[in-house]
Parts: sequence; C-alpha cells; structure tokens
Amino acid sequence: MMRAVSGAATDVGRVRLGNEDSYLCTDRLFFVADGMGGHSAGEVASAIAVSTLSTALADLDSVASDAKRVADAVRAANSAIFDEAAQDSRKAGMGTTLTGLALTDPTGHRAVVANVGDSRTYLWRHGELRQVTKDHSHVQSLVDRGAITRAEARVHFQRNIVLRAMGIDTSVDVDTFDIDLEDDDRFIICSDGLVDEADDDEIEGQIRQATDPQDLADRLVALANTNGGRDNTTVVVVDFTAASVATASHAPTVAIERPVEMARPSKWLAVAAYGSWLVSAAIIITVVVSAITSG
Ligand code: MG
Repeated sequence: MMRAVSGAATDVGRVRLGNEDSYLCTDRLFFVADGMGGHSAGEVASAIAVSTLSTALADLDSVASDAKRVADAVRAANSAIFDEAAQDSRKAGMGTTLTGLALTDPTGHRAVVANVGDSRTYLWRHGELRQVTKDHSHVQSLVDRGAITRAEARVHFQRNIVLRAMGIDTSVDVDTFDIDLEDDDRFIICSDGLVDEADDDEIEGQIRQATDPQDLADRLVALANTNGGRDNTTVVVVDFTAASVATASHAPTVAIERPVEMARPSKWLAVAAYGSWLVSAAIIITVVVSAITSG
C-alpha cells in the first residue's frame, strides 16, 4: 500500500496582477494547470481543467484505472474548456496547461502521470531529479533539434510559446506515463513560473533542505519569487511511502494526509447515473418482451 503525503503552494508572483494557475491536491490526484487568455479567462480555463478532472476521476478508489482512463478524463476537461469558450466571446481562445499524477492503484504501487503543455512533473528518486514530462513548447522542439541547450531554453525570448494546450481545439493529444512507484518517491508538479526562474540545481538544493512536502512547496514558490517572480508560480509536492500490511495494522489505516479539497460528484451526477440505468433497464425489458411476443 502506498501512503501519500502532499503539500501545495501558489502565488501571483511579483509582476502579474492576477493568478491564472489552479491546482488539485486530494488523496489520489495531484495536478497543476497554468491558464492563459485575456480578461481573467485564463483562471477560468485552469479552474475548469482541475474541477473536471476531479469529477471525472472521483471514483478512482473503486474503479480499476489505467493510463487510458486518466487520458479520457483530461480529454473531458479539454472539451469542457472548449465548450465554455465557444459559449462566451469574452472567453474565446482561453486555454491552459495541465500536468500531474493520478494514484491509480495504491496497492499495486501504480500511478499515471499526464501532461499537456509546458507545466512539468518531476520525480525525485534515489537522490536524483528526473523530469517525467516533456514540454510541448517551441523551445523544447529547438532543444530536440540540437539548436539550443536546455539552459538556453530557460532564458530564450520565445520560451512562452506553447505548442499544445487544453481548450484550444475539440480534441487534444495527452501524454501519459505509467509509473511503478517506489518507497520514498517524491513528485514535484509545477507551473513554468518555477522553472523559468530556477534551474534544476536550485530546485535540488531546496529538495535537500525541505522538511516535508508543504515546506518544499513553500520553498520553491519563494525561490521563484526571489529570482524575479515574473509569472504565477504553483507547486504541488507529493511523497509516497510504502506501508506494509503488518505496519498498517499498528498505524492509522487512513492514507489521507490532506482532506479532499475538490467537491465529490454532485447528487445530480448520481441522479443522471440512476436515470441512465433506468433507461438501460427499460430497453432490455422492451427487447425481451418483443422477443417473446414475436416468438
Ligand atoms: Mg505560467
């Protein structure tokens, strides 16, 4: 059984007037979204992304889940943003990045990382920092071609050009990564406000000094602001610890460090599910009856 302990921090930074980042931090879902679009539409887009994801994956503890199911939830969020933008001209063209981690099977020690855009999910394992996701950005494509280095990409004048985002089109390609969790794995999920201001060495320095996930999230947001704070910065940190069955009997059985912050599916969803069951039942009965009467 994997026990998750998490922390999260977000800040407007030192230049921007509003914070368009959103995050989701429950016992199973750890995501960051970095919205874009005028007239506060960016914060609407990032908020829709995390709330739709939360609703779509609310039953993660009872339904077998895999990368496809997580990707489907991300695509549902994409559609929700696109539809909202189509209905309101003030929100036309709004979009958001989305990246993070879903704990799909705590007993199997499995998780799925998903990504659209240039926010990042890192894994700290055995004292090494590894970027799990790959940025969908213009500068990343230049790095891939060998035209610029990773360090040059961080300060490149076109570093804000994103090649893939949520809510821009009716469909979206979602990168997913299956992760076999290990004891003491630490994930750091962040918006580009952090990585544009701090390099991997500075981030590692904070990881080594931090006492717990909340302390690290606070430290990394503070680091981004100290280095300039030119953008909103959001950081979600989650630590996984393997708790054996024998240990669990002596320890609290609840594996939730933080309360679930996002709403559970509303009663209307439950009503809709019940309604669709009734319709299915009616169809089956009709087919059976017509089969009997025709026979
Ligand atoms: Mg940003």
